[in-house]
Amino acid sequence: TWSAVPAGPPDPILGVSEAFKADKDPRKINLGVGAYRDGQGKPYVLDCVKKAESFLEASKPDKEYLPITGLGEFTKNAVKLAYGVDSAPLKDGSISATQSISGTGALRIGAAFLARHYPHAKVVYLPNPSWGNHTPIFRDSGFEVRKYAYFDPETLGLKFEALKADLLTNAPEHSVVLLHACAHNPTGIDPTPEQWAEISDICKERKLFPFFDMAYQGFASGSTSRDAFAVRHFVSQGHQIALAQSFAKNMGLYGERVGAFSLVTSDPAEKARVDSQLKIVIRPMYSNPPAHGARIANTILSNDELYAEWESEVKGMANRIIDMREKLYGILTNDLKTPGEWGHIKSQIGMFSFTGLKKEQTAALAEKAHVYMTADGRISMAGLNAGNITYFAESVDGAVRG
Ligand code: PMP
Repeated sequence: TWSAVPAGPPDPILGVSEAFKADKDPRKINLGVGAYRDGQGKPYVLDCVKKAESFLEASKPDKEYLPITGLGEFTKNAVKLAYGVDSAPLKDGSISATQSISGTGALRIGAAFLARHYPHAKVVYLPNPSWGNHTPIFRDSGFEVRKYAYFDPETLGLKFEALKADLLTNAPEHSVVLLHACAHNPTGIDPTPEQWAEISDICKERKLFPFFDMAYQGFASGSTSRDAFAVRHFVSQGHQIALAQSFAKNMGLYGERVGAFSLVTSDPAEKARVDSQLKIVIRPMYSNPPAHGARIANTILSNDELYAEWESEVKGMANRIIDMREKLYGILTNDLKTPGEWGHIKSQIGMFSFTGLKKEQTAALAEKAHVYMTADGRISMAGLNAGNITYFAESVDGAVRG
């Protein structure tokens, strides 16, 4: 029956982990996947998460199904975290929200809802480049996927004039525009607040629909409210945004799959109708979401002490990454005098650095130095620590010198 099924290519990101696992060299380093590691290179379970789990255990929760849209308290708190307590549509009760299978599931629910109910052509604009899963998520949901300019390989910065031109003149009215709320993956380059304001104005003028993907709230700056600037600015300007939230990175809940999808609507009556249709989209997909992770996140978000502890742990993760950026820059520039300009390693934001290493160099690093990253030269800064950063820098130096 399946003889005509062709073998598919490995996932460009998760495939890196498979190659890493197969490597037996003790010096090996995996900078492919975007999961935080502590200063010893170990996966990190946040203390606030451990405490929340012990509170939960004591409360002996049952294993009943959650509603289709998940734990209501959790989505309420997730939305508050993103939009801010002073958000006008939040106060008005016009934000429709549902729990989701982490950020990926939020994007997928959003794309499926828009595919069914957005009353315009199903065209989405993604930044060039974007997280690798954005294209298949929107394509599999029935969207035509196009790109807007984002990264400038010449300056290793934002190609802002071209970005504006794409949104102003190339994107047809009513196109959906996917925006990374903060800590753009894979480039680590975010618009400035002034640039965000211009993008918001263009979206309004051109009637573009902003769909925010917020997978790193707190991870960019260490402050959850500063990282929500773009989302809150757009909403304050009257945009009715869509938003995908993930708690994978900022609470370290990767495998628990905790996220939320929300849509700003015009009024509570419209919200109620959207709520009902979100249920109709979700029910045949997976019926209802898993409970445990949402309970953990909700315990943290609703308890002042745990919330404060969480904020300081997010800041700790963000700061360790910033420290690794400074150190890597220092070793390459001052100690090894590696050819090239490496300032972008310090200036980029969030978990990743887009190093500028070429495909051949990344292949050579894997083969000769047992150092693994995605083929586009993206490294997860969180994979670096005091024990491996010098070996990593020396390996990069070797690959650059050829
Ligand atoms: N969007 C972006 C930009 C991401 O980097 C990620 C995580 N790699 C996600 C969404 C979703 O991840 P998850 O489904 O694990 O929350």
